[in-house]
Amino acid sequence: MENGKCNGGTTVKLPEIKFTKLFINGLFLDAASGKTFETIDPRNGEVIAKIAEGDKEDVDLAVKAARHAFDHGPWPRMTGFERAKLINKFADLIEENIEELAKLDAVDGGKLFQLGKFADIPATAGHFRYNAGAADKIHGETLKMTRQPLFGYTLKEPIGVVGNIIPWNFPSIMFATKVAPAMAAGCTMVVKPAEQTSLSALFYAHLSKEAGIPDGVLNIVTGFGSTAGAAIASHMDIDKVSFTGSTDVGRKIMQAAATSNLKKVSLELGGKSPLLIFDDADIDKAADLALLGCFYNKGEICVASSRVFVQEGIYDKVVEKLVEKAKDWTVGDPFDSTAKQGPQVDKRQFEKILSYIEHGKNEGATLLTGGKAIGDKGYFIEPTIFADVTEDMKIYQDEIFGPVMSLMKFKTVEEGIKCANNTKYGLAAGILSQNIDLINTVSRSIKAGIIWVNCYFGFDLDCPYGGYKMSGNCRESGMDALDNFLQTKSVVMPLHNS
Ligand code: ADP
Repeated sequence: MENGKCNGGTTVKLPEIKFTKLFINGLFLDAASGKTFETIDPRNGEVIAKIAEGDKEDVDLAVKAARHAFDHGPWPRMTGFERAKLINKFADLIEENIEELAKLDAVDGGKLFQLGKFADIPATAGHFRYNAGAADKIHGETLKMTRQPLFGYTLKEPIGVVGNIIPWNFPSIMFATKVAPAMAAGCTMVVKPAEQTSLSALFYAHLSKEAGIPDGVLNIVTGFGSTAGAAIASHMDIDKVSFTGSTDVGRKIMQAAATSNLKKVSLELGGKSPLLIFDDADIDKAADLALLGCFYNKGEICVASSRVFVQEGIYDKVVEKLVEKAKDWTVGDPFDSTAKQGPQVDKRQFEKILSYIEHGKNEGATLLTGGKAIGDKGYFIEPTIFADVTEDMKIYQDEIFGPVMSLMKFKTVEEGIKCANNTKYGLAAGILSQNIDLINTVSRSIKAGIIWVNCYFGFDLDCPYGGYKMSGNCRESGMDALDNFLQTKSVVMPLHNS
């Protein structure tokens, strides 16, 4: 495997790949079929390792382990306080291995090593700590009752065996946003990482064992979506599926749940998020935030500000600044600390993005900068900005999941709101203005799960996010996330026995 190339001729030594097998009931196992698949380094298209290719039989085995751990094991029976201790120990071990985990996500998915080291992996440990803090504070309510002399209370119980299906763009954070609250709630689970980025999930499995999380609580089945993923979605003994990924696959998962055992489903899906830049915004800051919002993590982020609307009074100035600053948005090896953007995750994604760029050119949008692949090795794409994009164009409507920005002009506040909502998605939005009345009006009018005012990606462990419209049906992160893994039981008795 090629070591990481840095500026100045130094190199970053890549970790030995230690974990490539399924993790079931505390053991690393080959797939029942013996099959493996290759995981690819997007810097050069070379094979990093061969990973066990799990399928239905392996999912069955993992569900059996999770079911036994839930029905008979210690995990849901421990006090929240005891679970919290183990989850915190897991977080300690994640923090001790930050560099190793950041390297795995960089080599497997093209994520910048610095981002992994200073953002993704610390946030991953943070999600475990945050949820550990909640594990012993899961309360029901006392019910006063209204029409009868009854007394009652509610219990919040873990939902049972959970299937967590994870995407490839944030392999660590997405793992944590699902696994941490599910663990805190007392659930047991089968996790399927994305086939492009399985390495860190298997490393987390190893750390969970070291931390003393009981066998069967966390099981990992690596493999493909249409086989292992589909087996989870349609499994009769899984009580809940939590999925993050594309809207098309989200629909399939809901269908599979409906036609199997009506398991509960949480979906975190696609987006085409607007950034509205009003006339009174600071132009320099607006350009910085637009670039960050659209190109962060090479545009492979569901909340990317892929539609940027600029009010007509400052449109020309913002365009000029954006083009100037886009030149400094350097693309390079994810281990190079001067790079702001690494390679796209895989060949399929690389080709899909390039085909959207061709659509943009052919449909008559004005290419301001970028517009092509970089080099002849790996999956690098220039940060690309199109202006004069109209609502009938594919690049306006579809989630591209790459470094491609669509730029549009608007006149009035009402028109800005209308444009922002002109999408089937509703995940996030940004508003740049100094006018508090305008900010309040616009933030209440946009149909999206999170609104960033004079910032973008203002994420915090405490902040729930999720989709309006076709962007999903749940909230993750914050205390809301626990609800995805709990169910309410009412206990009722007569107020007087005689
Ligand atoms: P993308 O289109 O961005 O690659 P997907 O939505 O296809 O994202 O993938 C997200 C996760 O869903 C991955 O773990 C993938 O393997 C899984 N997946 C894909 N297809 C299915 C399916 N039919 N059923 C269950 N999981 C699936």
